Amino acid sequence: MPNFTQEQLQKITTDIFEAGGVPTDEAPIVAELLVASNLTGHDSHGVIRIPQYIGFIESGLIQPGSPVEIESESPSHALINGNWGFGHVIAQKAMTLAIEKAKSSTVSAISIYNCNHIGRIGSYPMLAAEAGMIGITIVNAGGAALYVAPFGGKEGRLATNPIAIASPTRNGHPILLDITSSVVAQGKIRVAVNRGDSVPLGWLINSEGEPTQNPQDLMASPPGALLPLGGIVGHKGYALGLMIDILGGALSGAGCSGSGNTRLQNGVLMIVLDIAKFTPLDEFYERIDGLVAHVKTSPTAPGFDEILVPGEIEARQTERRLREGIPIDDETWRQIQETAAEVGIPELKF
Ligand code: NAD
Repeated sequence: MPNFTQEQLQKITTDIFEAGGVPTDEAPIVAELLVASNLTGHDSHGVIRIPQYIGFIESGLIQPGSPVEIESESPSHALINGNWGFGHVIAQKAMTLAIEKAKSSTVSAISIYNCNHIGRIGSYPMLAAEAGMIGITIVNAGGAALYVAPFGGKEGRLATNPIAIASPTRNGHPILLDITSSVVAQGKIRVAVNRGDSVPLGWLINSEGEPTQNPQDLMASPPGALLPLGGIVGHKGYALGLMIDILGGALSGAGCSGSGNTRLQNGVLMIVLDIAKFTPLDEFYERIDGLVAHVKTSPTAPGFDEILVPGEIEARQTERRLREGIPIDDETWRQIQETAAEVGIPELKF
């Protein structure tokens, strides 16, 4: 399995996207966000996506360089038409604007439509946390990618509808919740297929509604489905997913699941809260320090070594992969090289 440094993988990714027609001011943004996803350990939203995104560009689903248009705006909100540009670029611009607006309005909300897949959504609220604010990103798929069965159902009716919330902390490692409202992201099924792995019981059902560990069942004909988050209390994950569909798809106009839209997109809502306008930052951090210390005092249950807070695993994995490199599985690397050759780079230099 080849192993890369962050810089090598960013160069490879930037080169392929530029050769594939992505403007030079956009390709490095996409590359940085994809590689950041690999760094955190979320390989499902990392460079494994290069062949898919190049395919989207070739078929016109992604139109790199499209203007990010603000359709309506007030000091605290905006509605953005992404004009089908690269989702990562649109989302990063939108979160940057939301942070700016929250500086003067305390709270801001930005809704986005006509936007492609924005990748690992946790990257965007982290920008708010780095600015000392709380960031929230909510995403639906506009009616496409209906892989998740509603609670009690056996056919996919919702997308994996994720939510991410980041809060700054005093020590510089934000607390980051970044989860799908399904048991896992669909991309993790894709990674399992590429690696030839089975998946844990409780992730998937087959077309008969029976539990299965075969990741291929999700794409079989007829297809199986991902389960909503929550196991025996899956009604909670299902309810969360439904509300995310409303906040991401109905508000922006991207469309909700069942809208008939089959074009893959992300209907996005970015929310930012300027903490210092509510409470002194120092006191806020003190409360978080207390909270984190408090949960970590719990004795561990059998099979667990320690209590973690959301975002901690990713922060540790990032430190490890920055030190030891980012492993890319053979099949993903083969596909990346094949894609590079298709866009005119017969041999990747890095
Ligand atoms: P996951 O199941 O790995 O959950 C990740 C979250 O759980 C993180 O916040 C992590 O810090 C936290 N976590 C993990 N172990 C923990 C522990 N022991 N204690 C405390 N917290 C812990 O991830 P997922 O739900 O499968 O989602 C994977 C990725 O897919 C996410 O980054 C998401 O943004 C992305 N995604 C994107 C889209 C899109 O359309 N753009 C759709 C779905 C998912």
